[in-house]
Amino acid sequence: MQADTSDRPRRPEMALRHRARARWLAASWPNPARLLTPLARVGPRLTVAFLSVALLLPLIGLVAVNEQYRASLHAAQIEAENVAEQVAHTVAQPAEPGRPVLYQQPAQLQRYVSGVQRDDGRDLEIVGLDRRILADALPDDQGRLFTLDGGGEVAATMRDGKPRSFLEISPDFPDGIEVMAVPLRTAHDSIVGAVLLEYTPLHRELLAAGGVTRQVIVAASLTGMAAALMLGYLLSRDLVRDLRGLTRTAHLLAAGDDAARARVGSRGELGELAAAFNDMARRIAAQKATLTEQAVRDPLTGLHNRRAFTQRLDETLARSRRSGAPMALLMLDLDHFKDVNDRYGHPAGDQALRTVAALLARELRAVDVAARLGGEEFGVLLPGSDQDEAVLVAERLRLAIARCPIVCASVTLTVTTSIGVVSYPRHARTADELSRLADEALYLAKRGGRDRVCGPSGPDQGRSGQR
Ligand code: GH3
Ligand code: MG
Ligand code: MG
Repeated sequence: MQADTSDRPRRPEMALRHRARARWLAASWPNPARLLTPLARVGPRLTVAFLSVALLLPLIGLVAVNEQYRASLHAAQIEAENVAEQVAHTVAQPAEPGRPVLYQQPAQLQRYVSGVQRDDGRDLEIVGLDRRILADALPDDQGRLFTLDGGGEVAATMRDGKPRSFLEISPDFPDGIEVMAVPLRTAHDSIVGAVLLEYTPLHRELLAAGGVTRQVIVAASLTGMAAALMLGYLLSRDLVRDLRGLTRTAHLLAAGDDAARARVGSRGELGELAAAFNDMARRIAAQKATLTEQAVRDPLTGLHNRRAFTQRLDETLARSRRSGAPMALLMLDLDHFKDVNDRYGHPAGDQALRTVAALLARELRAVDVAARLGGEEFGVLLPGSDQDEAVLVAERLRLAIARCPIVCASVTLTVTTSIGVVSYPRHARTADELSRLADEALYLAKRGGRDRVCGPSGPDQGRSGQR
């Protein structure tokens, strides 16, 4: 312990204590920034969530280590107070009644203090009421004025008799030395000075004794943090990858790719979500296919409807224009069909329509297109066929229909057909013009007596099979 030998201004005691503790804590903990870098690349929200969990563990460890520091300081203060009280008792109370007390005998007092320093390693000072040093572990300081208690703690202890701890700051120990001051009481309970005991070494001893516990806390906290970070990184990486896969699939589906399906590596909820998502995509695709089919099919016969037929006519015509190949359009209308309904009933009429549709599908090539345009009216496209070939096909169809028995319940009937035939490029170059001329040809066939094939100018068109 040293007497005040400088005029240097003293720093506030609490600030110094905090600084010493902060330095000590900082030395115990490595910088975690490097551990966090890999997670920074993963989805920000998930990263923040996992970082919060990961940082909680070292924070708990930090609190535990800090509590251990405070507990060891408190224990050191209690121990220091006990030792100082014992010294005060020895110094201020007579060994036997009537014997002189130690504090009144400077030479013996200094010997006693030096002995305590030598034998127990305790750094002691005894000061009188005037704060003069009566005895010191460093004998040179004897007689000097003690002024190193920045807040006047020693004077206060001598005044009210309460033990106090404070930081003794000197040029040799700028971070301060922990000191416990207890009053020096005589047998008559009057205060005649104070015992000052430096307990920094004691505090260090207690801190060192808890070193293993502290290392276990630090290691457990850092291991927990590393495990949480690693787990978070792996989970975040998989989750982000799978969520991005789902988002990409949703975009593909929205863009019309009905075959797009999510591939998810994760199990559990995300796997279930992906399965549900794919199931939904499958159902939507199936419903879409059904709707698309319904939009182009005639429900009674299963043939294309007028809308699909018009579209196929445009496509076939465009292909013919590009390739220079001919194409033909047939317009069929069943003869006196009203009479069929009237005589055999509507279900028989429906059966007749279905039978004719099946016959068309059977008789035509795969590249040909047959459609029910409405009522008892059918259309046929013959890509690559010129007028002569088309008339032959029309005649074959006419005969086949006329000879085909239509069975409905107990009734068997037959129907005949009138057919108008036109072709590209012979009669027209546009879809509208071809359709109009086909209608005219059909009208001619009807007017000519039905059950026949006609071109736009009547039955003399084409080479064979026309009436
Ligand atoms: P034409 O020889 O002049 O063509 O005489 P048509 O009786 O066939 O002609 P019209 O246009 O007068 O009659 C067509 C009939 O077709 C009227 C209607 O009862 C019948 N028809 C239309 N659609 C259906 C259907 O989906 N099912 C049934 N069973 N009959 C239908
Ligand atoms: Mg008809
Ligand atoms: Mg008709």
